[in-house]
Amino acid sequence: MTALLSVEGLSVAYGGATALDSVSLSVAAGETVALLGANGAGKSTLLKALLGLVPTRGPARGSVRFDGADLAGLATERRVRLGLGYVPEGRRVFAGMSVRDNLEVAGLDDRRERARDVERIFALFPDLARKSGEGAWRLSGGQQQMLSLGRAMMGRPRLLLLDEPSLGLSPKLADELFAAVRAIAASGTAVLLAEQSAVRALSAAPRAVLLRLGRVVRDGPSAGLTEAALHDAFFGV
Ligand code: ATP
Repeated sequence: MTALLSVEGLSVAYGGATALDSVSLSVAAGETVALLGANGAGKSTLLKALLGLVPTRGPARGSVRFDGADLAGLATERRVRLGLGYVPEGRRVFAGMSVRDNLEVAGLDDRRERARDVERIFALFPDLARKSGEGAWRLSGGQQQMLSLGRAMMGRPRLLLLDEPSLGLSPKLADELFAAVRAIAASGTAVLLAEQSAVRALSAAPRAVLLRLGRVVRDGPSAGLTEAALHDAFFGV
């Protein structure tokens, strides 16, 4: 299987502190991969590095290839245009804009195509459809997370990068959100899903990569992931 995303030997340091230490991983077209690890393991840093939002450095700063193209030196906007979608931690929506406008501004230039994409997202999230004309500030936290995911989908990404989508959500809303992620994955979009909540992420992802202190400590089928391996990645010394 050729990789859609291929990361090799990627290292990131903040000041003198290493956040990612020679990380390698790949995601195939249409594949969903869970990126698991404790608070501070480097999950957010990895997603940001894929988007060019943190400088990669050091002697082995590594390479990131997307659909065959080397992303080194490319601005974030170019990476998004190549097909990376990003849902950052903490639901960044435009609070003062309507739900619909939040989606529209993230959409394609073609009006008809854009309108079609908005309808697709409303079908995925009926709550958003019901509140399409309301200001985004009126949405609940869970609905804002849905809107943030919807915004990322408006760019028709081939790989969706999700940073802790269930953080702070009630179990019911987290379930709803993961159902949408599964539907997005089933429609053929590849997903890299960073999560601390392993159980939910594993239910959506056939493969899991475990990060601990900036290093990949396991990469393989979710089905073969033992409690002991998870415990070691999250709490091991
Ligand atoms: P979280 O669940 O808290 O987001 P994470 O697995 O995503 O955890 P990162 O946020 O990538 O982890 O952090 C990895 C390491 O880099 C941690 O030690 C963190 O303290 C450090 N770090 C992250 N961002 C910065 C920053 N802007 N400046 C300095 N250090 C940072």
